[in-house]
Amino acid sequence: MSGHPTISGSCLCQQVRYELTGDPQVKLLCHCDNCRKVTGSSFMANSVYQEDQLRIISGEDILKIYKDSNNSSGNVLSRAFCSNCSSPIYITSSLHKGMLTVTSGTMDLGPSKSEWAPQFEVFCKSRREWIPPVEGTTTCNELELSK
Ligand SMILES: [Zn+2]
Ligand SMILES: [Zn+2]
Repeated sequence: MSGHPTISGSCLCQQVRYELTGDPQVKLLCHCDNCRKVTGSSFMANSVYQEDQLRIISGEDILKIYKDSNNSSGNVLSRAFCSNCSSPIYITSSLHKGMLTVTSGTMDLGPSKSEWAPQFEVFCKSRREWIPPVEGTTTCNELELSK
């Protein structure tokens, strides 16, 4: 992937900085229990990219990887986070080589939905009832993005 970076981002303490080139493959909200635990929030906003679209500019040495195998699919997720401030940065999956998921909350974006808006909501079977579906998204009970 070549060309100019389209999005930059960082962790909270700014030691980990990254750039993304090109558009994400998929933008989604995940309502699964693991994403809730790892963010400490009620859902997680994620953007799926090809591995070569992400470039870590600084702080690669302080990224720590947590191997998350606490799921029923046999999938092992490697969750990379800043070991200084704990921001989750990206996730790779043992089942989807060459792809990675970047945490949209660490991207330097404005509030406009032209900058970022989800296309899908996944694991909606675990969605907290007080969170209404986001207008314009396709909702899935688990992770069936093709439907
Ligand atoms: Zn940090
Ligand atoms: Zn999730």
